[in-house]
Amino acid sequence: MTIGLAHLNCRELVELVTAYLEGDLSSGERKRFDVHLSACDGCTMYVEQMRRTIELTGTLRLEDVSREAEEALLGAFRDWKAQ
Ligand SMILES: [Zn+2]
Repeated sequence: MTIGLAHLNCRELVELVTAYLEGDLSSGERKRFDVHLSACDGCTMYVEQMRRTIELTGTLRLEDVSREAEEALLGAFRDWKAQ
């Protein structure tokens, strides 16, 4: 996965969320992640949901997140940003 030096967009954040919650991001990635979170309510809610899911299930692997769920989430972001 390649990440540019610019701020993360929502799709990039979604792709990184499990690594973020598992502490696997580099310090630079984590900083960009936090910058995005501080400015994006949709992603803040998403990260909180993922954190809660991990607490409930004990683990969360990227392959456990269905394509449909990811697309629904990104659709919700688009709606939110369109407002
Ligand atoms: Zn976002």
